[in-house]
Amino acid sequence: MKLTGTLLWYWAICRREAWLMAHEITPDEDDPYLELGRFLSERAYPRSKRRELSLPGMKLDLLETDEGEVVAAEVKKSSRFVEAARLQLLFYLKRLEEYGVRARGELRVPRERRRFSVELDEEGRARLQAAIEGLQELLQEHLPPPPERIPWCRRCAYRDFCWGDLLEPDPEP
Ligand code: SF4
Repeated sequence: MKLTGTLLWYWAICRREAWLMAHEITPDEDDPYLELGRFLSERAYPRSKRRELSLPGMKLDLLETDEGEVVAAEVKKSSRFVEAARLQLLFYLKRLEEYGVRARGELRVPRERRRFSVELDEEGRARLQAAIEGLQELLQEHLPPPPERIPWCRRCAYRDFCWGDLLEPDPEP
Protein backbone atom coordinates (compact mmCIF):
# COMPACT_ATOMS: atom_id res chain seq x y z
CA MET A 1 0.00 0.00 0.00
CA LYS A 2 1.40 3.35 -1.04
CA LEU A 3 2.03 6.04 1.53
CA THR A 4 0.82 9.49 0.60
CA GLY A 5 0.93 12.92 2.19
CA THR A 6 -2.86 12.93 2.39
CA LEU A 7 -2.86 9.67 4.33
CA LEU A 8 -0.43 11.17 6.81
CA TRP A 9 -2.79 14.10 7.21
CA TYR A 10 -5.65 11.74 8.01
CA TRP A 11 -3.46 9.64 10.28
CA ALA A 12 -2.67 12.71 12.39
CA ILE A 13 -6.38 13.49 12.79
CA CYS A 14 -8.10 10.10 12.95
CA ARG A 15 -6.44 6.69 12.62
CA ARG A 16 -9.70 5.12 11.50
CA GLU A 17 -10.13 7.62 8.69
CA ALA A 18 -6.59 6.97 7.49
CA TRP A 19 -7.23 3.22 7.46
CA LEU A 20 -10.53 3.61 5.56
CA MET A 21 -8.96 5.93 3.00
CA ALA A 22 -5.98 3.66 2.50
CA HIS A 23 -8.30 0.71 1.90
CA GLU A 24 -10.24 2.71 -0.67
CA ILE A 25 -13.47 2.70 1.26
CA THR A 26 -14.45 6.03 -0.20
CA PRO A 27 -16.52 8.58 1.69
CA ASP A 28 -19.53 10.49 0.42
CA GLU A 29 -18.18 12.45 -2.57
CA ASP A 30 -21.10 14.92 -2.35
CA ASP A 31 -20.26 15.79 1.22
CA PRO A 32 -20.46 19.61 1.63
CA TYR A 33 -17.07 19.74 3.37
CA LEU A 34 -15.33 18.03 0.46
CA GLU A 35 -17.12 20.45 -1.89
CA LEU A 36 -16.06 23.43 0.19
CA GLY A 37 -12.43 22.37 0.06
CA ARG A 38 -12.52 22.13 -3.73
CA PHE A 39 -14.28 25.49 -4.07
CA LEU A 40 -11.93 27.32 -1.71
CA SER A 41 -8.84 26.05 -3.43
CA GLU A 42 -10.28 27.01 -6.81
CA ARG A 43 -11.32 30.50 -5.73
CA ALA A 44 -8.19 31.39 -3.73
CA TYR A 45 -5.86 30.40 -6.53
CA PRO A 46 -7.44 30.53 -9.98
CA ARG A 47 -6.32 27.75 -12.26
CA SER A 48 -4.33 30.19 -14.42
CA LYS A 49 -2.11 31.08 -11.45
CA ARG A 50 -1.70 27.62 -10.01
CA ARG A 51 1.35 25.47 -10.31
CA GLU A 52 0.10 22.11 -9.13
CA LEU A 53 2.46 19.22 -9.01
CA SER A 54 1.43 15.57 -9.11
CA LEU A 55 3.95 12.85 -8.44
CA PRO A 56 3.39 9.32 -7.12
CA GLY A 57 2.07 9.69 -3.58
CA MET A 58 1.67 13.43 -3.68
CA LYS A 59 -0.44 16.18 -5.13
CA LEU A 60 1.00 19.51 -4.17
CA ASP A 61 -1.24 22.59 -4.46
CA LEU A 62 1.46 25.05 -5.53
CA LEU A 63 5.08 24.94 -6.53
CA GLU A 64 6.63 28.31 -7.29
CA THR A 65 9.87 30.21 -7.00
CA ASP A 66 10.43 33.21 -4.78
CA GLU A 67 13.71 35.12 -5.17
CA GLY A 68 15.50 32.03 -6.39
CA GLU A 69 14.02 29.78 -3.72
CA VAL A 70 11.60 26.97 -4.49
CA VAL A 71 8.43 27.22 -2.41
CA ALA A 72 6.11 24.25 -2.00
CA ALA A 73 2.72 25.34 -0.67
CA GLU A 74 -0.41 23.62 0.52
CA VAL A 75 -3.72 25.48 0.72
CA LYS A 76 -6.00 24.72 3.68
CA LYS A 77 -9.49 25.71 4.66
CA SER A 78 -8.49 26.63 8.20
CA SER A 79 -5.55 26.50 10.56
CA ARG A 80 -7.41 24.13 12.85
CA PHE A 81 -5.40 21.08 11.80
CA VAL A 82 -2.17 22.85 11.13
CA GLU A 83 -0.04 20.14 12.76
CA ALA A 84 -1.53 17.46 10.50
CA ALA A 85 -0.96 19.75 7.52
CA ARG A 86 2.66 20.24 8.58
CA LEU A 87 3.20 16.48 8.43
CA GLN A 88 1.66 16.31 4.99
CA LEU A 89 3.89 19.10 3.73
CA LEU A 90 6.99 17.60 5.36
CA PHE A 91 6.24 14.45 3.39
CA TYR A 92 6.06 16.46 0.15
CA LEU A 93 9.29 18.30 0.94
CA LYS A 94 10.99 14.94 1.47
CA ARG A 95 9.63 13.61 -1.82
CA LEU A 96 10.84 16.71 -3.63
CA GLU A 97 14.25 16.25 -2.04
CA GLU A 98 14.35 12.69 -3.37
CA TYR A 99 13.78 14.19 -6.82
CA GLY A 100 16.68 16.59 -6.23
CA VAL A 101 14.57 19.66 -5.41
CA ARG A 102 15.34 21.56 -2.21
CA ALA A 103 12.26 23.56 -1.27
CA ARG A 104 10.89 25.36 1.72
CA GLY A 105 7.30 24.73 2.66
CA GLU A 106 4.42 27.06 3.30
CA LEU A 107 0.94 26.32 4.56
CA ARG A 108 -1.51 28.90 3.31
CA VAL A 109 -4.90 29.57 4.81
CA PRO A 110 -6.48 32.16 2.50
CA ARG A 111 -9.68 32.36 4.52
CA GLU A 112 -7.70 33.52 7.55
CA ARG A 113 -5.01 35.35 5.53
CA ARG A 114 -2.33 33.32 7.31
CA ARG A 115 0.80 31.49 6.25
CA PHE A 116 2.88 28.97 8.23
CA SER A 117 6.44 28.12 7.39
CA VAL A 118 7.46 24.43 7.26
CA GLU A 119 11.08 23.32 7.12
CA LEU A 120 12.49 19.87 6.50
CA ASP A 121 15.07 20.33 9.26
CA GLU A 122 16.30 17.75 11.74
CA GLU A 123 13.21 18.00 13.90
CA GLY A 124 10.92 17.89 10.89
CA ARG A 125 12.64 14.77 9.57
CA ALA A 126 12.32 13.02 12.94
CA ARG A 127 8.61 13.88 13.18
CA LEU A 128 8.00 12.71 9.66
CA GLN A 129 9.82 9.42 10.22
CA ALA A 130 7.87 8.70 13.41
CA ALA A 131 4.59 9.45 11.64
CA ILE A 132 5.44 7.24 8.67
CA GLU A 133 6.25 4.36 10.98
CA GLY A 134 2.99 4.90 12.86
CA LEU A 135 1.00 4.94 9.63
CA GLN A 136 2.72 1.84 8.30
CA GLU A 137 1.92 -0.01 11.50
CA LEU A 138 -1.74 1.04 11.27
CA LEU A 139 -2.07 -0.07 7.66
CA GLN A 140 -0.88 -3.56 8.52
CA GLU A 141 -4.01 -4.08 10.61
CA HIS A 142 -6.71 -6.17 8.95
CA LEU A 143 -9.54 -4.09 10.39
CA PRO A 144 -9.89 -0.37 11.02
CA PRO A 145 -9.71 0.91 14.58
CA PRO A 146 -13.17 1.46 16.09
CA PRO A 147 -14.62 4.96 15.75
CA GLU A 148 -13.78 7.40 18.47
CA ARG A 149 -15.77 10.55 18.65
CA ILE A 150 -13.64 13.61 18.10
CA PRO A 151 -14.62 17.16 17.10
CA TRP A 152 -13.62 16.41 13.48
CA CYS A 153 -16.34 13.71 13.22
CA ARG A 154 -19.03 16.31 12.52
CA ARG A 155 -17.14 17.48 9.45
CA CYS A 156 -15.88 14.09 8.35
CA ALA A 157 -17.25 12.56 5.14
CA TYR A 158 -17.34 9.16 6.94
CA ARG A 159 -19.61 10.40 9.72
CA ASP A 160 -22.65 8.44 8.45
CA PHE A 161 -20.55 5.33 8.05
CA CYS A 162 -19.18 5.62 11.58
CA TRP A 163 -22.11 7.05 13.45
CA GLY A 164 -25.28 6.66 11.36
CA ASP A 165 -28.01 8.94 12.70
CA LEU A 166 -26.19 9.52 15.95
CA LEU A 167 -24.28 12.49 14.62
CA GLU A 168 -25.67 15.46 12.75
CA PRO A 169 -23.30 17.31 10.43
CA ASP A 170 -21.89 20.61 11.60
CA PRO A 171 -24.45 23.24 10.55
CA GLU A 172 -21.73 25.59 9.23
CA PRO A 173 -19.37 24.00 6.69
S1 SF4 B 1 -16.41 10.05 11.60
FE1 SF4 B 1 -14.93 10.39 13.25
S2 SF4 B 1 -14.25 8.34 13.82
FE2 SF4 B 1 -15.22 8.17 11.83
S3 SF4 B 1 -13.55 8.32 10.38
FE3 SF4 B 1 -14.40 10.37 10.63
S4 SF4 B 1 -13.19 11.32 12.23
FE4 SF4 B 1 -12.78 9.14 12.33
